[in-house]
Amino acid sequence: MTEELYLTDSYLREFDAVVTAVEGQAVALDRTAFYPGGGGQPNDLGLLTWEGGTARVKKVKRRSGQIWHTPEGDLPAEGTQVHGALDWQRRYRLMRTHTALHVLCGVVWRDYGALVTGGNMEPLKGRMDFEFETMHKDLVSEIEATVNAEIAKDHPVRVAILPREEAFQIPDLIRTKINLLPPHIEEVRTVEIVGLDLQADGGTHVANTSEVGRVRVVDYKSKGAINKRIYLELDA
Ligand SMILES: [Zn+2]
Repeated sequence: MTEELYLTDSYLREFDAVVTAVEGQAVALDRTAFYPGGGGQPNDLGLLTWEGGTARVKKVKRRSGQIWHTPEGDLPAEGTQVHGALDWQRRYRLMRTHTALHVLCGVVWRDYGALVTGGNMEPLKGRMDFEFETMHKDLVSEIEATVNAEIAKDHPVRVAILPREEAFQIPDLIRTKINLLPPHIEEVRTVEIVGLDLQADGGTHVANTSEVGRVRVVDYKSKGAINKRIYLELDA
């Protein structure tokens, strides 16, 4: 099992680790700060350095409890001590974007009662899908203003890891369908924008909404009568 350092410290940019396995073009590490992707957040990029070598990490994936890093070029052998460094500008932009999307979820649920069904992001750009029958063009600027007002309230963002049974008692989590989590998952990681939004989430977030900066709601699309997709962008 790889120790997933980003789960408890999303601000960790560099780390030391040991290669525990090599398969094809990929190496597994005993610990990592590289996010493997998931929940709409793409995997991290960055560098692995070891005695006599350095390689750019192109792809990171989770497979059977391990995090596999696919570098370009040379591979460190099993047992090698490596130093990992994230492409921090990209990762920090993803953290700001991910938190912005949760602010959007919180606002759309609180003000319009619409549930989120999915989402996706790249640095400084994201989209979320909602069951939002009453969404229409005039709401775009209203939602944008409310999202920015909430960001400006400097809400702290808190990460917690809860026993499954405890998480299942929290009404806000039940609405996001955590009951669909596979039975073997014994702990649930939660991300709370205090006072606004609480979700089961594996991604990396900023510690306070003040770090998000200004958000623009740039577009929305109907994906049928009920399903609506809202697009947002952040300033660099
Ligand atoms: Zn999320």
